[in-house]
Amino acid sequence: SKAVMGKIIWRRSMQIMISNKQQESREGRKMMKFRQSLPAYKEKDALLMAISQNQVVIVSGETGCGKTTQIPQFILESEIESVHGPLCSIICTQPRRISAMSVSERVAAERGEKLGETVGYKVRLEGLKGKDTHLLFCTTGILLRRLLVDRNLKGVTHVIVDEIHERGMNEDFLLIVLKDLLPRRPELRLILMSATLDAELFSSYFGGAPMVHIPGFTYPVRTHFLENILEMTGYQLTPYNQIDDYGQDKMWKMNKQAPRKRKSKIASAVEDALRAADFKDFSPETQESLSCWNPDCIGFNLIEYLLCNICEKERPGAILVFMTGWDDISSLKDKLQAHPILGDTSRVLLLACHGSMASAEQRLIFDEPEDGVRKIVLATNIAETSITINDVVFVIDCGKAKETSYDALNNTPCLLPSWISKVSAKQRRGRAGRVQPGECFHLYPRCVYDAFADYQLPEILRTPLQSLCLQIKSLKLASISEFLSRAFAVTRIISGHYLTKLPMEPKLGKMLILGAILNCLDSVLTVVAGLSVRDPFLTPLDKKDLADLAKAQFSRDYSDHLALVRAYEGWKDAERDLAGYEYCWKNFLSAQSMKAIDALRREFYSLLKDTGLVDSNTTTCNSWSYDEHLLRAVICYGLYPGICSIVHNEKSFSLKTMEDGQVLLYSDGHLKMLGGYLEFFMKPAIAEMYQSLRREFEELIHNKLLNPRTVHKHNKLISAVRLLISEDQSDGRFVFNHQVLQPSKLPPITA
Ligand code: ADP
Ligand code: MG
Repeated sequence: SKAVMGKIIWRRSMQIMISNKQQESREGRKMMKFRQSLPAYKEKDALLMAISQNQVVIVSGETGCGKTTQIPQFILESEIESVHGPLCSIICTQPRRISAMSVSERVAAERGEKLGETVGYKVRLEGLKGKDTHLLFCTTGILLRRLLVDRNLKGVTHVIVDEIHERGMNEDFLLIVLKDLLPRRPELRLILMSATLDAELFSSYFGGAPMVHIPGFTYPVRTHFLENILEMTGYQLTPYNQIDDYGQDKMWKMNKQAPRKRKSKIASAVEDALRAADFKDFSPETQESLSCWNPDCIGFNLIEYLLCNICEKERPGAILVFMTGWDDISSLKDKLQAHPILGDTSRVLLLACHGSMASAEQRLIFDEPEDGVRKIVLATNIAETSITINDVVFVIDCGKAKETSYDALNNTPCLLPSWISKVSAKQRRGRAGRVQPGECFHLYPRCVYDAFADYQLPEILRTPLQSLCLQIKSLKLASISEFLSRAFAVTRIISGHYLTKLPMEPKLGKMLILGAILNCLDSVLTVVAGLSVRDPFLTPLDKKDLADLAKAQFSRDYSDHLALVRAYEGWKDAERDLAGYEYCWKNFLSAQSMKAIDALRREFYSLLKDTGLVDSNTTTCNSWSYDEHLLRAVICYGLYPGICSIVHNEKSFSLKTMEDGQVLLYSDGHLKMLGGYLEFFMKPAIAEMYQSLRREFEELIHNKLLNPRTVHKHNKLISAVRLLISEDQSDGRFVFNHQVLQPSKLPPITA
């Protein structure tokens, strides 16, 4: 038949492709040799055997042994070679978009092809695949989204879930969904890959699925903790109260302004150790220096000093520095570039490695530099397990990573720097011993390492489960509702029929729904898109005042959200004249965020069309009226209960959460709780009225009574909202973001 013929022709052409492109060119032979040298290659037959005989197989193996790049290829190649087997469609998920992109590019290169031929990728807003694509790398989120519309994953033959040891929320959730799917698709193969030896846990979750371990080999790594580094080099830490501009992260600054600092387990570990004379074998200078160690601060100066030392005195080999996040990386990079040795490009190749780098930059990371040039890579925890740089000999570890945590005030997940676990520290150390014996410098004392948690808690136990639950609901996975009952309680409060169809945080979904109903979708789309991307308002440390000034132009009414809408509109106008970049530059805006907002607006709009809330015949989302009062109402509605009321006393005032009356802002202008966006402030009387209106809205949406076609019936309601919000003007409600407000910045208080 035609299909079989097609299959055979495809297989032939693939075989020719392999032999021509991959084996006969010199480059191809070199690549083949590299592939064959990877530990995974030795297990190829065992792996394929296990996969053919079991529906679920769990593979573990040291980072860099070839799991991600080789195993999907083994399956693809064996399918190509087999005569009888069905044509395969392999999906391999990655927790981060950057790994999905870089891995797919690498695998295509190993096969001597261009990306988009046999190998493709798909991440949010981007992707490359063609009709011949049989191996697709995508983010976990993309596969989850596909499961929403395609519950049986029709046509897919293999699903590979990578980096399961990270225990990310999406990955854990995907496993739950796939476990449910397996009995319905007996021929589907599921392969789980982990970099650590926790395979048993997953095996028992999948009814004792077989495990294949890929034995690896690493050279020994000499470990230095802070006290050893100080002793070895004679470096002195700067006393706590004299710390200069470097090495302080935001947390520390916040703590300095609001001296409510609670002693963490980590901070007191050092004090205890010093008191208990655990450091008695070290010199008095080292002991004194250790007492200056600040747990909230990454010692940029110390890193610079160490890098310099290695460059000057040590044998060749790349240096990998683990930093907390992108902002630390970029400020350290700036600092190092100004250094006489480290900034000398004829001697040092300085690179950054983080989740949002460009792919050209990525390639440099893997290349070996010219002789006599030292490669230094500043990386986030992405280089712990998902990206392997082969020639690393020295590792510097600051001990922190950004992890999503739960912002209780706002019900919002946010990224905060926190200490890594012992397992992560070990992983980081292991990166140094891949090609020869290596060295690792931990920038914290041994006693602090001892106080680290053994493992990081799975994300599913750390964060609110609202978004997850909405997905579970629409996937009709009633059986796990028990396991998630706590989360369901939260979801129920804000759930609505439409919300389950909008795969985003509920508070954002709520805004979109109300925006559609109240006909102010244009600006609501901007707000929602803006809350989904990195804050577009940039504040470079050295130009903070100018940046604040630029932002103030947009936020004349003290609202970050309205500021965002204005900034976006200005950008859109400038973009029409091809002057978007200048506009961003002038106004301290991130052009990247602006573009992302633009793209997300379109995506959200098409999602709304799918829900039937907006007329599917309209093509643009720019045709709605702009009404500030209405927009405020919508934001309020969405962000509840993250709303405060303002309480005036004789001379001062305080802010109270609407939900439980907690005081958030004292009259001296200091906020008690920070993090995330804090939203609108209202007069208590208005707040009460607002609450009852809110209940009414919930009811209407929940019962599907409110939709665009019947909206005229609710005119009374809408005008009530308008009135309510405009009444409240006198208070000058405002919104702010991540800053301690100074009294001078508050709007004038009118009684
Ligand atoms: P694992 O998934 O087991 O951690 P990978 O399959 O990611 O391992 O990597 C296997 C090997 O391929 C490693 O030595 C790694 O350095 C190399 N590698 C991976 N991606 C690239 C790339 N883009 N360029 C060069 N080498 C790469
Ligand atoms: Mg991998």
